[in-house]
Amino acid sequence: MGSQGIREWAGIDTFAPATQTKLLELLGKLKQENVNTLTILVIGKGGVGKSSIVNSIIGEKVVSISPFQSEGPRPVMVSRSRAGFTLNIIDTPGLIEGGYINVIALDIIKSFLLNKTIDVLLYVDRLDAYRVDNLDKLVSKAVTDSFGKGIWKKAIIALTHGQFSPPDELPYDEFSSIRSEGLLKVVKLGARIKKDVSQDFTIPVALVENSARCKKNENDEKVLPNGTAWIPQFVQTITEVALNGSESIRVDKKLIDGPNPNQRGKLWIPLIFLLQYIFIMKPIEAFIKRDIANESRPSWEIDE
Ligand code: GDP
Ligand code: MG
Repeated sequence: MGSQGIREWAGIDTFAPATQTKLLELLGKLKQENVNTLTILVIGKGGVGKSSIVNSIIGEKVVSISPFQSEGPRPVMVSRSRAGFTLNIIDTPGLIEGGYINVIALDIIKSFLLNKTIDVLLYVDRLDAYRVDNLDKLVSKAVTDSFGKGIWKKAIIALTHGQFSPPDELPYDEFSSIRSEGLLKVVKLGARIKKDVSQDFTIPVALVENSARCKKNENDEKVLPNGTAWIPQFVQTITEVALNGSESIRVDKKLIDGPNPNQRGKLWIPLIFLLQYIFIMKPIEAFIKRDIANESRPSWEIDE
């Protein structure tokens, strides 16, 4: 699709002037580095605010949001163009269904992404959660198994409900860093990123508040409880990840159909079976045959 077919990113005009200035500056920076298109993949459990983030960034209600986790089963790509720069953002259905990875949803996402290039992965969860659990690990494992470990060098963890007030008068920044650390740890575990290479995978965390009731500062910018204007901060993090020098993930047929990129070891399984057959089953078979041949029939079996 030529860029002339892509709609103007008019939603930027609805942002506060200070936010608009910062965004256009960041888009200019990307273009300066010859990045004219950016494709962002949004992934996470259901109901965490994936679709809301898409609407927040585009500045229009482009995808439907639901408090009841009944999302459409298909991914949706929204494209907007501004000053020669094109943003593609792909909203996806939640990856967890009844405590397990929704394999069908994952397969639909994978075929949707065929021949696309993922420049940034937004791994979405909520800030206002106290515990990380196995589901988080399952989601990060599914992402790794589908797209390879390298995708985490292009990832941002986005935590929604950024306006949340922590309990027990825990300072906001302290709460958000404890929550981020906990989630990062379990995500790295699911992605099988070992401790010794963990510093190569510094996954930035961005705080987001999608609510229309988000507090604003004197410049009319939407702010978090710590005073940060989150939209420009978020787009800045996206820009940094886009320009961090790690390769974007090209989704081709090989990546989708081929062996699971992190379990290539499975290719050895038929060979191992063959070796087992040659070195274990064959000798046992020969032994049994020999045994039968040498067997002297018991006296009670001999016909008189
Ligand atoms: P998805 O299933 O991950 O796409 O989540 P949605 O974007 O559909 O959001 C689920 C519900 O959470 C909706 O009722 C949203 O209005 C609400 N929601 C999403 N993000 C935020 C946020 O940052 N703050 C608040 N207060 N509500 C949010
Ligand atoms: Mg959704």
